Amino acid sequence: MPNKTSDRSATALKITEIFRSLQGESDSVGWPTVFVRLTGCPLRCVWCDTAYAFQGGEWMEIDAVVDRVGELDTRHVCVTGGEPLAQKRCLELLTRLCDAGHRVSLETSGALPVDRVDTRVVKVLDLKAPASGEVARNLWSNLDHLQPHDQIKFVISDRVDFDWAAGQIRSRNLTRWDVLLSPVWETLPPATLSEWLLESGLDVRLQLQLHKVLWGDQPGK
Ligand code: SF4
Repeated sequence: MPNKTSDRSATALKITEIFRSLQGESDSVGWPTVFVRLTGCPLRCVWCDTAYAFQGGEWMEIDAVVDRVGELDTRHVCVTGGEPLAQKRCLELLTRLCDAGHRVSLETSGALPVDRVDTRVVKVLDLKAPASGEVARNLWSNLDHLQPHDQIKFVISDRVDFDWAAGQIRSRNLTRWDVLLSPVWETLPPATLSEWLLESGLDVRLQLQLHKVLWGDQPGK
C-alpha cells in the first residue's frame, strides 16, 4: 500500500510559513525579502531559534508556493528552514523561483549536499561550531560546490567556538568566500565577538541578526 506522506513529498513541500520581512542576515541584509520556511531538520543545534519548524507545517504544491511568493511581489526570496534541503523537492522549488525572476538565496546547515542546487541561487552555508552540538555534521565536501557569490556563516557561542572557526577559516582558506561570524543571540555579547574578530586579523565580517535587533525573537519576523 503506498505511503500517503511519501506520496505528497514526491510532488509537494511541507511549509511552516511564507512571509515578507527584512532580510536579517548575509550580504543581503536589509532588503525586503520573502521567506519560504520549509518544515523539518535532521539536526538539533542547542541554540536553534527555529525549533517551531521541526514539526507541523502544511503540504503545498510547488506551483502554489511559487504563486504565493509571486503575490508578495518582492525581488529577494530566501528559502530557509529547518533544513530546506532535507525535502527532496526543495531543489525544484529553488529553480522555479529563479525562473520566476527572483533573486534567490538558500540558508542551509551545510550538513546536506549542495551540489545539485541551481547555480543562480546564493547559498549561505551555516557551518556548525562545537557549542552547537552538531559539529560532526559539517559536510566539508560542500566547499567544492560553492561559487564566488556564496557565503559561509559561523554562529559563535563562546571563545572555543571562535578559536575553532578561526582555525577552519585559516586551514581551509575559507576567505575565498564571504565569511560571516554571528554571535548566539543573548549568549555572546556582540561587542566581545567584535573584539576577538579585530584582534584575530581575519578578513571576515561580523553579522548581527537585524530582524532580532528590530523585533526580538518573534517567529515570522
Ligand atoms: S540546522 Fe538550523 S534549523 Fe536545524 S537545528 Fe540547527 S539551527 Fe535549527
